[in-house]
Amino acid sequence: MEMADNPLDQVRANIARACKPARRDPADITLIAVSKTQPAERIVPLLEQGQRVFGENRVQEAQGKWPALREAYPDVELHLIGQVQSNKAEEAVALFDCIHALDRASLVTALAKAMNKAERRVPCFIQVNIGEEEQKGGCAIGDLPQLIEQARAANIPVAGLMCIPPFDIEPAPFFALLAKLAADNGLDRDSGGLSMGMSSDYETAVMLGATHVRVGTALFGDRA
Ligand SMILES: *Cc1c(COP(=O)(O)O)cnc(C)c1O
Repeated sequence: MEMADNPLDQVRANIARACKPARRDPADITLIAVSKTQPAERIVPLLEQGQRVFGENRVQEAQGKWPALREAYPDVELHLIGQVQSNKAEEAVALFDCIHALDRASLVTALAKAMNKAERRVPCFIQVNIGEEEQKGGCAIGDLPQLIEQARAANIPVAGLMCIPPFDIEPAPFFALLAKLAADNGLDRDSGGLSMGMSSDYETAVMLGATHVRVGTALFGDRA
């Protein structure tokens, strides 16, 4: 494996390499640099290298860090990748350009209300509890068609599907299942994305159709 000089170039090279067997264009894959827990001084070097898409999992943390960074780098695109509490919907809609964890009808209602009030439509991925784990966020596979319908009826732009596979099991079958669910629900290719793959498995996710990979540790090192 070729080694790049820095983690960002390395991750980009790995994405490009994973694209080859899948006959995909690396330009079709958005690398989301997951900067949760990272202070601004760790984020700036990536911005200086041209990275513009970042992911945070807490509204409050992002509110503290990003307004100042955005003044310096106005073309930043900020994605909310973590659970959203309904009472944070307005703040989420104001700050983020994309939301990855729409997973229940009550959140559809809260986000739609916030988007109407702000007159701002924020694309949302619908998170699927792909391993049917009790503790995990995401809608049940069986509830997905209805949730997509509810989101669309509420005028929320549906960006595609998102998943976090069970920890410590081969993730490929879960990525393949998410891609199948997207296709079954008319969310494939032109009409929708797949937000899947993290530091340990983003190359596998790319081979199986990911359009958005969420990578933290591989870019920033271990979180404190
Ligand atoms: C933290 C987080 C990531 C990034 O995880 P790494 O293993 O550090 O790459 C991706 N997605 C979600 C939803 C996260 O919370």
